[in-house]
This record gives sequence, structure tokens and C-alpha cells, in this order.
Amino acid sequence: MKSLLLTGAVALMSALAAPLAHADLSFDECMRTLRSVAPGKGVSQAAFDRFTAGVSPDETVLESLDYQPEFVTPIWDYLAALVDQERIDDGKAMLAQWSEVLGRVEAEYGVDRATVVAVWGVESNYGKNFGSRPLVTSLATLSCEGRRQDFFRGEFFTTLKILEQGNIAPERLTGSWAGAFGHTQFMPSTFMRIAVDFDGDGRRDLMDSVPDALASTANYLKQAGWRTGQGWGYEIRLPAGFDASVAGRKARRPVSEWSSMGVRQIDGSALDAIDSQAAVLLPAGAEGPAFLVFRNFNAIYSYNAAESYALAIAHLSDRLRGAGPFVTDWPTDDPGIARAERRELQQLLLDRGHAIGEVDGLIGARSKAAIAVEQERLGYEVNGRAGMKILKALREGL
Ligand code: CA
Repeated sequence: MKSLLLTGAVALMSALAAPLAHADLSFDECMRTLRSVAPGKGVSQAAFDRFTAGVSPDETVLESLDYQPEFVTPIWDYLAALVDQERIDDGKAMLAQWSEVLGRVEAEYGVDRATVVAVWGVESNYGKNFGSRPLVTSLATLSCEGRRQDFFRGEFFTTLKILEQGNIAPERLTGSWAGAFGHTQFMPSTFMRIAVDFDGDGRRDLMDSVPDALASTANYLKQAGWRTGQGWGYEIRLPAGFDASVAGRKARRPVSEWSSMGVRQIDGSALDAIDSQAAVLLPAGAEGPAFLVFRNFNAIYSYNAAESYALAIAHLSDRLRGAGPFVTDWPTDDPGIARAERRELQQLLLDRGHAIGEVDGLIGARSKAAIAVEQERLGYEVNGRAGMKILKALREGL
């Protein structure tokens, strides 16, 4: 109580003297509190001082924490970018390059190589996109400001433990705004539970060791209940008049029940009972592609807790095994576009004088704003979305 009053008084004086000093003072006070409790969290004060030296808050992570998208991204946009020809080709190259390591990972953890590589491809584009925010800075900020401070304090102390144990070089530890890092985008607490040293150098390094990252991914799936030799599921055909209310990832039933309801594989053949229980997934409602998903789909789902990402990983793993695209079209007249097409769209926007920055295939705020201007001009629905309709229009010079 005493320190709270003191903090308030000092903050008030400071605010009168220099309006911008308030946030920093609160942050410094918070860091002193965290330092005092660090030993109880398994972090020595020497390590705390060493790894937090010079850290100042990064307010931009708070914007990410509170970001509410104006429009919901349709599932077909996720799939078009996450499972495009580039990612399939790159994944096949990785399967070849890391074949020996992946063979040992399969033997040790019982998770097949296509699934492990698909997670890698979706999470970090095979190690090309780790996120560039210093982890200690992001998690210190989130520990002292904004919502969910208790959760982020746990991740913050765990990050310091990871560094104190010498797993990863401090200057290498960057990641997403929320603290996910490395080839497999583990949160620090997940790293502590799951990451393994697979190249035998005594360190668990998800930033600079591909063998450690691939084995850690397989270990994650194994711990999440992966069943060796089973697929995640497959596309299905629903009978006319199918009651969509019985669908949903958690609404598991015996495969025989789905069969008697008239559900078939997409080619019309009888259902394959990969496992005894399965759920029907309708990612875009009854009109779009439908899937029968088994236990291993849930293991993939637990990686990111989003059905769109789980389906992207599952589908990418099939494509890496040589399977084709989904048979059923998504229910839209404006399909999603691949990263190559996104780059083409960005170039067309630049050619028309929109200052969207670099062509990088990532549709950020400036690209969306430029797309919205063009949509308005063309009399289309204005939503800033990078889809096939606006791409075609600009291609054709409309
Ligand atoms: Ca290692």
C-alpha cells in the first residue's frame, strides 16, 4: 500500500514536470518489483540484471494485444496464402534436405515427416520468418502494461530462465509480439515443457538448430496425443439435407454413425475408419468443403488453437505427400490468392501510384487502404481484401 501511494505521488510530480515520463516511471517501478520476485520464479537477480539491462517498454506490442480486425478473414484467404505452390515446393525441398534428421525424428517420436515439415512451413515459413521483436522487451512490456499481465509475467520469467540456462544466445532471441519464437514459434512456457536437444550440443536451440526445432515439433505433437501411423482426416461428401448442426470439431461420433447418416469420402467411397471416433468439420458452413477429422487433427489444432491454421497444416502435409487441392470449391465468387498473386497485386497498386511501400506479398494496412480505394472506384464491396476479383480487375486495366 505504501509503495502504491509513493508511486502515485512520484508519478504525479513527474507528470507535471515532463508529461512523457509517466509511463517509463511506472515501467521502471514494475521492473523493480519483478526483479525482487525473480528468485522465487527460478531466475537469479544476476541473470535478471544481465538480460534486462537497458530494456525499455515497446508500446507497439500493446497495439497488437488490443488489435481488433475490422473484417474477419475468410478461411479461403488463410488457405490460399498458407498452402500455396511456393510453400508446397519449399516444403518438398526441406523434406529432401533434412531427410536424414526427419527419419530419426519419426523413429524417436512417431510423427511423420510431412506433418512436422508442414507445421514448420506454416509457423515460420521454414525458418524464414521468426518475428523480429526482441523477446525480453515484448514480454517485459506485456508484464507491466495492458491486459493479461499475470500470464505474460510467467512467460517473461520463463524467457529469462531459457537465457540463463544458455539455450539460446540473448541477441538472437526475437519473435512475435506475444513472445512466440523460433522455427516452430513456441511460447517460452511451451519451450520449457517440450523443446528437446536433438543435435546433441547440450542446448535446446529453436532459433539456430533445425534438428532441435523439428524434433521439438514432433515432441509437441506426441505430447498432444498424436497416434502414429494415423492420418488427420480427409475431405468428405455430405448427403443432401445433411443437418449441419451435428458438425463441429468437438462433436465426435463413431465413424459408423457418420456412415449411416450418408457421409462418404469425397470420391463417393465408404468412410475409412482411421480411428473409432471422428467429427465433421465445415470450415465455411454446409456449402463449402467438408472434412472428417480424427484425433490427430486435434493434436495439430492444439498447436495454435485455430481451426484455420490446423486445416492449413493438415492440408499442407497432404500436399507434401503429393495429394491435390480440395475437390469442393469454397463458397465465394472471389477466391483467395497465393503469395505470388499478392505480390502481383501489390505491383499493380504501385503502378497506379499507391504508396504501399515494398512488394513483399504481405497485405498490411497500406496495401489494404489502397485496395479499398480501388474497390470504391470500381463499385465493388469496400473491404480492403486482397482477392482474385480485385486482382483480375487491375490486371485487365479496369
Ligand atoms: Ca541442440
